[in-house]
Amino acid sequence: MANDDQFKKVISHAKEYGYVFQSSEIYDGLSAVYDYAQNGAELKKNIRDYWWKAMVQMHDNIVGIDAAIFMHPTTWKASGHVDAFSDPLIDNKDSKKRYRADVLVEDYCAKIENKIEKEIKKAEKRFGDAFNKEEFVSTNGRVVGYQEKIDSILKRLGQSLEKEDLADVKALIEELEIACPVAGSRNWTDVKQFNLMFGTKLGASAETAMDLYLRPETAQGIFVNFLNVQKTGRLKIPFGIAQTGKAFRNEIVARQFIFRMREFEQMEMQFFIKPGTQKKWFEYWKETRLKWHQSLGLGEENYRFHDHEKLAHYADAATDIEFKFPFGFKELEGIHSRTDFDLKQHEAFSGKKLQYFDHEDNESYTPYVLETSIGLDRMFLAVFSNALMEEALEDGKTRTVLKLPAVLAPVKAAIFPLLAKDGLPEIAQQIVEDLKWDFNVTYEEKDTVGRRYRRQDANGTPFCITVDHDTLEDNSVTIRHRDTMEQKRVKIEDLKAIIKAEVDVKHWLQKMEM
Ligand code: ATP
Repeated sequence: MANDDQFKKVISHAKEYGYVFQSSEIYDGLSAVYDYAQNGAELKKNIRDYWWKAMVQMHDNIVGIDAAIFMHPTTWKASGHVDAFSDPLIDNKDSKKRYRADVLVEDYCAKIENKIEKEIKKAEKRFGDAFNKEEFVSTNGRVVGYQEKIDSILKRLGQSLEKEDLADVKALIEELEIACPVAGSRNWTDVKQFNLMFGTKLGASAETAMDLYLRPETAQGIFVNFLNVQKTGRLKIPFGIAQTGKAFRNEIVARQFIFRMREFEQMEMQFFIKPGTQKKWFEYWKETRLKWHQSLGLGEENYRFHDHEKLAHYADAATDIEFKFPFGFKELEGIHSRTDFDLKQHEAFSGKKLQYFDHEDNESYTPYVLETSIGLDRMFLAVFSNALMEEALEDGKTRTVLKLPAVLAPVKAAIFPLLAKDGLPEIAQQIVEDLKWDFNVTYEEKDTVGRRYRRQDANGTPFCITVDHDTLEDNSVTIRHRDTMEQKRVKIEDLKAIIKAEVDVKHWLQKMEM
């Protein structure tokens, strides 16, 4: 499937099977705002739990909090968001469409990257088994040329943004002859900065109301609580504070479905460390987070690190874990070495000390911070888009199957009576009653079993369990596996153990240790 088609399929499948709906659809929707439906809410919760268990439950030095979305407005002055949380925007004068200037340039580079991919595919075909991809990309003149072009464009973009040289960003767009995707023209305005925070008001009367922001990241809720948590939890450095929750950004390039939303959810962990140890911990968290991703089995080749040329105002090192979405490699998670910037800023703006007394070294200091920050919705899209496939079957037909990692699947098993009579529904219902204490399960009796299998395949359900007339004799049922379509006869009393072996978090998270 071409990438565009695959992405369209992902969006329509998400709707058709009750995963993601456009927000307020009956009023024609709200741009870049989405609702999670009955299956989507389960999948999202399971991803959140998988993260929380790996980060909080499995680390005795990481605790979780749940801070409010509203924060004192000075928080955002201290954090730098009031002054510096903006995107460089450019308008096309003909179409009147507004774009993020950096995204226009990045999209241009993505097109060159597509050319590289095409060269690789061609060579793969030509050389067959003898093909060595690494050697090819480092020696093929055309590919090397393309890569050098990408590197030099991104370097210049990074440097211009770093220096706030917006005139050069515009010059770059002009030199690359980037045209407006809508108007096709190159009639651009100057590039200007636009703050991404949503403002709101707290208070009853217009005169006394206080201007607030909806938080654009969850991290600050952790920083302002740092000392309270450290003291009440009697935590010793190094330790982490984790949190999941909503964040809001007035994104301009709000397309690509749930990849870039105006209201989204983050899963963040701030790890407080001794100054000077940040390089070691940066490497540690890069590796640990990548292992977490890989434990889900979405394919090692679908991840890569992208080190930042342009560092945010708070960071001394930063990398993204990028994932191969249907529209190419894009940021899924950020790992940032934030130094002591945030705590120092909050000390300065609040006038309160936010220092840690290190009993071992007998000294006080402001800890450094290493952050891991992942978008829950982006993770959802990564998992969902990777799982959706059309599979050719032996009989020449195809099946649509959503091969979600079993640990994340919304419904773990569907239980069917072969026929809706002869006492079979009662047994199937009893199995549902027994299993629902441990797993999210569902009951279905409509249509042929074959059609029920297909529906559950497309829904992402790892197991289907069928009760038939033999069950009446021997208390056994057929269990069918979504991915292999293999069917086995098993005893009803063994069902729980069979399902648990495949959906248990432990079974999946232990892969991080391999
Ligand atoms: P981008 O460059 O894509 O705008 P960012 O670098 O601004 O992302 P961070 O501020 O590092 O993102 O946020 C951490 C994570 O939060 C990102 O890696 C991403 O997964 C998620 N995220 C950020 N913005 C959005 C959004 N608008 N919609 C959904 N997820 C988002």
